[in-house]
Amino acid sequence: MKNMNEKLLPMEAKGEVQTESVIKSSVEMPYSGIRTFLRRRHTHDLTGVDYAIFGVPFDLATSGRPGARFGPSALREASTHLSCGKVWPWNIAPFKSIEAVDLGDVPFQRGQTNEMMKNTIQFSQSIVDADVSTIMLGGDHCITYNTLKAHASKHGPLALIQFDAHRDILESDYLDHGTFVHHAIKEELIDPEHSIQIGIRTHYEKNDSMQVLYRDWFHENGWQGALSKIKETVGNRKAYLSIDIDSIDPAFAPGTGTPVVDGLHPNDIISILRNSMDLEIVGMDLVEVAPAYDNAEITALLGATLVQEFLCSRAVRKNNIAKKSTKK
Ligand code: MN
Ligand code: MN
Repeated sequence: MKNMNEKLLPMEAKGEVQTESVIKSSVEMPYSGIRTFLRRRHTHDLTGVDYAIFGVPFDLATSGRPGARFGPSALREASTHLSCGKVWPWNIAPFKSIEAVDLGDVPFQRGQTNEMMKNTIQFSQSIVDADVSTIMLGGDHCITYNTLKAHASKHGPLALIQFDAHRDILESDYLDHGTFVHHAIKEELIDPEHSIQIGIRTHYEKNDSMQVLYRDWFHENGWQGALSKIKETVGNRKAYLSIDIDSIDPAFAPGTGTPVVDGLHPNDIISILRNSMDLEIVGMDLVEVAPAYDNAEITALLGATLVQEFLCSRAVRKNNIAKKSTKK
């Protein structure tokens, strides 16, 4: 079927992928059309791109329930409920300031963990080498090791900001979603002295130099206290933001592999993201969404929203930097 006379047009006002169909209409409802994340263009061309969004549909390294392989598609689907234009309460349309595209998913053969790791590192590396920031949709948390490796090869050890119920720091020869932080420290992909874990509510014997904000600490000090600790720990270093959706309470995020009760409230992370413009974040990910355990898409919608909030913070950061440089 050659030339259906269909063109994929980035709609100027919204930057959305819209299809001008054979009947010359480009109306696209939230529930129709091809699901890219926040309707970004699907391309591998990184010219002029600030943020490259991609998925890693992998869940063979989970200790609990599998299913996060369906995370990237669930996040894309849920993102259709969100605004591609102006976002409340930011009062800006992020894609007027930053260019983000959806590269699709990292390809790998089923069951081939080593191949997935190798391909995800290579995939991330090509984005990092093009001076583009990564936004990775998981997948289980082991995949964060791969993007950290790509970013560390350029920037050196990163300051990790990790929201999680778990520290993922267990000592082990093999890499999985509960051990990736241990490997990242061992291989100097992250700088533990300037890294911080937030929302932790599982037991660890380990004594190390990472800043850990346990759940009870967060309850006492709130998001403002946590944000101060993050800024104090990270400073002006290059940071990587990793959000494990199980950091949030299972009442709001049941669709995940290893849920732990008494978690953060969605607003805890949202408030931190809305005040994170000082932080230089070179890459982020949203992992561990497992839609099979979800209800009414609430976990996927929350995950997609957190990525959208992050993108808004980056748009404002870019605008702020541009304003400062024109003042000089
Ligand atoms: Mn984790
Ligand atoms: Mn976790």
